[in-house]
Amino acid sequence: MSINRIQFQPGLSMPDFLKHFGTEAQCEAALEQSRWPQGFVCPCCRATGASVFIVGSHKMFQCRACRHQISLTAGTLFQSTKLPLTTWFLAIYLISQAKTGLSALALKRYLGVKYPTAWLIQHKLMQAMSERETTYTLTNRTG
Ligand SMILES: [Zn+2]
Repeated sequence: MSINRIQFQPGLSMPDFLKHFGTEAQCEAALEQSRWPQGFVCPCCRATGASVFIVGSHKMFQCRACRHQISLTAGTLFQSTKLPLTTWFLAIYLISQAKTGLSALALKRYLGVKYPTAWLIQHKLMQAMSERETTYTLTNRTG
């Protein structure tokens, strides 16, 4: 699973973060932009162009060429999550801004979730971030 290219600039203030990522729609838009920077591309047939519809609280894309359906979060870190994207984004923000790391306990308090949830979020994000750093280091070495 590839890391989502969601990064916040260092030193982004909390009010600025909330202004840009404070609502579910804003987070969805950011995720969509990070998955498909040039617009939707079908994972099956590589066609562009999709019909967008909402199932429950999930945004679904249906390829106009082959009718393949994919949810916005499928194949991402947020796949099958029951948490709002705003919670995930806030967690990414808090962890990326904390220079010395953030404990699951602190995350639990900040996010207002149960401890096991906070623990899961922390581990998923830390793993994704270390994968990205590994890739980055390798890229640097060869390039
Ligand atoms: Zn397709």
